[in-house]
Amino acid sequence: MRKKLKRQFRIPGPVKPSLRVRRAINRYLSNPISHRGEEFGRLLWRTTEKLKTICQTNNDLFMFTSAGTGMMEAALLNCLMPGEKVICVSNGFFGDRYIAIAKTLGQQVVEINYEWGSPVNLEDIKLAIQAHQDTKALIIVHNETSIGGTNDIKSVGELLKGKNILFITDTNSSIGGIDVRVDEWGIDIALTTSQKALMNQTAMGILAVSGKVWWKRQQKNYSPRSYYFDLDNAKRSFATGHTMMTPSVPTVAGWDVAADMILEEGLENVFTRHQQAADIIRRLATDFPLVAPIEMASNTVTAFRWQGTEKSLADFLNKLDKKFNLKIAGGQGRFAGKIFRIGHLGDITSEDAHDIANRVKECYNTIK
Ligand code: PLP
Repeated sequence: MRKKLKRQFRIPGPVKPSLRVRRAINRYLSNPISHRGEEFGRLLWRTTEKLKTICQTNNDLFMFTSAGTGMMEAALLNCLMPGEKVICVSNGFFGDRYIAIAKTLGQQVVEINYEWGSPVNLEDIKLAIQAHQDTKALIIVHNETSIGGTNDIKSVGELLKGKNILFITDTNSSIGGIDVRVDEWGIDIALTTSQKALMNQTAMGILAVSGKVWWKRQQKNYSPRSYYFDLDNAKRSFATGHTMMTPSVPTVAGWDVAADMILEEGLENVFTRHQQAADIIRRLATDFPLVAPIEMASNTVTAFRWQGTEKSLADFLNKLDKKFNLKIAGGQGRFAGKIFRIGHLGDITSEDAHDIANRVKECYNTIK
């Protein structure tokens, strides 16, 4: 009998944090510190500085104890008043979620929709901006986790340069694994979470906020639409070394170390490692077609189309989990039962990627 395979937990986030990160979290669980004390202030400030380096920004950066969806809502809440116009570009599950959130907040939504998995056409964005001169913000997901595709936000940033429109982008499954240059690309709000390529445990989020956002808020006498997520509250508290509401202290501590790991390796090396892992995983496309075209294939998550029934996909994923000790994800929303996704983010190596690809192939061979 062959020996038990090492557990590979490879959904596209949350990731399993590495031992160093888990130890840091444990330390703060075993010896709690006050979130109102000086030690926490030092932890918060130094972790924030490291995260700013990873996000390639000198803008303000705030941590919130929240899931990614909270950050999605916070970005929209802090940039737009009800009735104001936002262009939402969507080619997947999370792009659609922005449309739903903006509508819930009473914002006027100009939708640019694509088939899930299809690339974004910059011409469409150009035309929408021309047709809607009163647009206040544009939102696009950078790495659409639901389709395994990366949108070209650098070009979107170029398109928006010099325009009176706030550029919001969701980097939930990219920052820390794929190059995102917040300042250079003119991103006004970049949002992300702890549990993906930033290698931490779940449920803290980040908003990186440009000077243009603050300026816009002053110009129009912005009145807060939320207490918990209000940026003025966040800024005031951060200056005193706190978060306004009780934070997940162990998660901040985990981030302190996870950020060290990324910076010690070097951003360029981290991006290359993710690309190499992605290249290996993508070779499975000989058996299963990619959901997103190769030109936009993501370096942190790959989505494949399943060729059989919903039931046979469920059986395949179950067998991978139980017999091959590999946990990957199915599809979301309208892609449920039709695709499967492999997360190759966090501390993934090429060796892991080969191992994952081999297990997927081997398992598939047992059932096809
Ligand atoms: N945006 C993207 C691109 C995501 O991948 C996710 C989660 O997978 C979210 C937003 C939502 O994050 P959460 O599930 O933490 O609310």
